[in-house]
Amino acid sequence: MAAYTSLNYMDFDSLLTDDELMVRQSVRDFVSKEVIPVLQECNRSETFPKQLIPRFAEMGLLGTNLHGYGCPGLNNVAYGLSTMELERGDSGIRSFCSVQGSLVMYPIHAYGSDQQKEKYLPRLAKGEMIGCFGLTEPDAGSNPGGMRTKAEKVKGGYKLNGNKMWITNGCISDIAVVWAKLDGEVRGFIIEKGTPGFTTSTMKGKFSLRVSVTSELHMKDCVVPEENMLPNAVGLKGPLSCLTQARYGIAWGVLGAANACYHQALDYAKERILFDGKPLAAYQLAQAKLAMMATEITKAQLLVLQLGRMKDKGTMKPHHVSMAKGNNCKIALDIAREARDMLGANGIIDEYPVIRHMMNLETVKTYEGTEDVHRLVVGQEITGIAAFR
Ligand SMILES: Cc1cc2nc3c(=O)[nH]c(=O)nc-3n(C[C@H](O)[C@H](O)[C@H](O)COP(=O)(O)OP(=O)(O)OC[C@H]3O[C@@H](n4cnc5c(N)ncnc54)[C@H](O)[C@@H]3O)c2cc1C
Repeated sequence: MAAYTSLNYMDFDSLLTDDELMVRQSVRDFVSKEVIPVLQECNRSETFPKQLIPRFAEMGLLGTNLHGYGCPGLNNVAYGLSTMELERGDSGIRSFCSVQGSLVMYPIHAYGSDQQKEKYLPRLAKGEMIGCFGLTEPDAGSNPGGMRTKAEKVKGGYKLNGNKMWITNGCISDIAVVWAKLDGEVRGFIIEKGTPGFTTSTMKGKFSLRVSVTSELHMKDCVVPEENMLPNAVGLKGPLSCLTQARYGIAWGVLGAANACYHQALDYAKERILFDGKPLAAYQLAQAKLAMMATEITKAQLLVLQLGRMKDKGTMKPHHVSMAKGNNCKIALDIAREARDMLGANGIIDEYPVIRHMMNLETVKTYEGTEDVHRLVVGQEITGIAAFR
């Protein structure tokens, strides 16, 4: 099969710098040679390929757009392109890197003390330490303000009680950034593995994101030392700002999955011979589907590129990210479903990547704010009226 290239319909690549193209190519080669070959087996056995963690670090995929403390410090477009390449492999692989960079390293970088930054960031960037982000609870998903996890000041630290669920990387993490209410105010705490009263359990039986570890976190009279509270994150805007970072990466990432599905459908349509000896690609209905895919990917690429340029200039706002995350997840899932259909029966087996991407994208559309929630954010921005309640 020819080497993979992403869709370049409107000469999208001409809008990228040489450095950005170089980053994309190196992550692309890495994903083709080292990630894709292990995915079928990992997906079947619901296993995360831990052996790749040192390679993620060497490739600059952990904290890609953060500066200092051994982080790669790339611009946000190069970072976005790298998430897109990772997710061409699998959304679960991209999720691992997104959580580590945007949801663990970012809060420490943005809200941590100097001591916390020195202690954790270099090791997280090298992949010597893995982290997770505990916000969601059994009864608080789209509305994290409804969290029940509580922190209480005790001598020398804080005592945490509560449960988090749907936590990516939970069981394989050395540290958890957990959000809890202290005197009614949301605060962030770093819990190290092995802290008494802190346990994790694996959530099994997922039909989606099977190569990613998903866990529950349990805090029962778990006392963390005083210096493990993030000093500069007070209120819900702390965790929400982390989600803005992660959603930015997702808005790019899903275009990798969409590209993979589009290219698979295109290749298949050219080869699959139907009724009268013509390939599927020669039929108008198939062309309409492929044209829809190419159009939506092209629009979405331009949307995230502008988002990235705004992020680099410091003008990106959370409602811009909501538009891109909501739209791009939706079109990626629509494309995966159409591609699955075009492959006929072959669309349901894992010899082809399409069904795996399609199942994964059901999660990606839901986590980090569902499509509905992002519509409500955009709706609030354009009407000036919040309609969440
Ligand atoms: C595989 C996986 C990994 C995850 N990883 C993490 C992680 O690492 N850390 C973490 O903290 N969380 C994580 N999550 C949790 C994820 O962010 C939540 O599932 C998500 O925010 C949705 O919350 P919920 O599942 O409680 O759905 P709910 O909030 O119960 O939503 C149910 C439905 O109601 C709709 N809805 C919600 N509010 C409104 C409203 N105001 N108006 C109209 N409709 C509304 C939603 O759009 C949805 O359709 C993960 C989830 C999955 C599936």
